[in-house]
Amino acid sequence: MADETAPEARRCGFVALLGAPNVGKSTLLNALVGSKVSIVSPKVQTTRSRVLGICIRDAAQIIFVDTPGIFEPRRRLDRAMVRAAWQGASDADLIALLVDAKLGIDRDTRGIVKSLRKTERKAILVLNKIDVVKRTTLLQLAEALNGEGVFTDIFMISALTGDGIDDFAGHLAGTVSEGPWLFPEDQITDIPMRLLAAEITREKLYLQLHQELPYSAAVETESWEDFDDGSVRIGQIIYVQRSSQKAIVLGKGGQRIKALGAAAREELMVLLDRKVHLFIHVKTREKWADDPERYRDLGLDFDV
Ligand code: GDP
Ligand code: MG
Repeated sequence: MADETAPEARRCGFVALLGAPNVGKSTLLNALVGSKVSIVSPKVQTTRSRVLGICIRDAAQIIFVDTPGIFEPRRRLDRAMVRAAWQGASDADLIALLVDAKLGIDRDTRGIVKSLRKTERKAILVLNKIDVVKRTTLLQLAEALNGEGVFTDIFMISALTGDGIDDFAGHLAGTVSEGPWLFPEDQITDIPMRLLAAEITREKLYLQLHQELPYSAAVETESWEDFDDGSVRIGQIIYVQRSSQKAIVLGKGGQRIKALGAAAREELMVLLDRKVHLFIHVKTREKWADDPERYRDLGLDFDV
């Protein structure tokens, strides 16, 4: 057991999870931590700012940094996300580059490998989604990437089924430096509960609205009230850019927002392990994507 580890034998380190959007970074993080700390969706770019996921394995406390996907930035928000991703990587002790084995080496992955080579940083290669890839394809991909000369190790995993994850975690546990743990052993993330609660609602928003809503829609937790009976009242606002989008989020007779709120509330109750009263309002704010305040709230730099 972790808590029986002699303090002097302990290890601790930061591991940055890098990779193109949608390769499965958040899914892997949640699998490693054993709880949902980073939101997952089939739509790209759902991880906006850095999320730490903390797990204890053997004598090591491994602190994972889930980053927004690294991709070619166009808009201001995109640039801020890419910068946050690279910052996460430069602060870390180890870098794990995730690649979608089904998709292979796309432009984003090629770009990341190139940057790693340029900065002379070594990384662990993690080929993900092996549950949907043929063995021969997998080996070819491993060989091609191994030839880049930036990888110290290669792991083949499925973040979805859990295949290979244990080996990967074991390797990290043995590789991070000796040193004291930086977080209490029951802590699994560093993001404040308010933010996590907003992320959960944002995930429901994406899952239920699919292509109908641009990813610039945002959720904020504006109030959080703990009651003596153990329950909590959480107030949130969903910001959209146009009134037409507001109508979509609300749905006919408020059906959409009701379903969305119910799903978010259910997940919050499990996460917080208590009764949750969730109140969600939808507001229109045109200039969201250009508002410096929002960037600070998300832990991103505005001026990039
Ligand atoms: P991120 O953008 O890199 O954080 O990717 P996500 O974790 O949000 O995952 C993107 C999509 O890939 C989601 O639909 C996941 O369910 C899916 N996914 C992640 N890992 C696996 C895997 O090992 N196998 C399969 N088949 N799908 C996966
Ligand atoms: Mg993600």
